[in-house]
Amino acid sequence: MRRLGKSEKKIIANKRINYLFKLAFKTHDKELAKRAIKTAKSLSTRFRVLISKNIKRKFCKYCYTVFNSANNVKVRIKKNLVEYNCLGCGKKSRFPFVKEKSKKPK
Ligand SMILES: [Zn+2]
Repeated sequence: MRRLGKSEKKIIANKRINYLFKLAFKTHDKELAKRAIKTAKSLSTRFRVLISKNIKRKFCKYCYTVFNSANNVKVRIKKNLVEYNCLGCGKKSRFPFVKEKSKKPK
């Protein structure tokens, strides 16, 4: 069998990552979702595939729990960022929203 090239590996990794995230956001099994996100993240670091911005905001990067709006996350808006406070592990992840702010008419 022929060995796969770098770009082919990346494409396959990307497919698997997308599948895993879809599974994680669909399922009601919390442990399964955590495991799916963990493997997806390890794949993305191993094959240097970027995870898209909107997916990054949907889970805690410390304990891999999926955020579902009311139950396990507190969202606060600070000066130039949105703060996601995970209630599972108590850590905060911050995301900038400078671009959206500058687009808004004054
Ligand atoms: Zn967490």
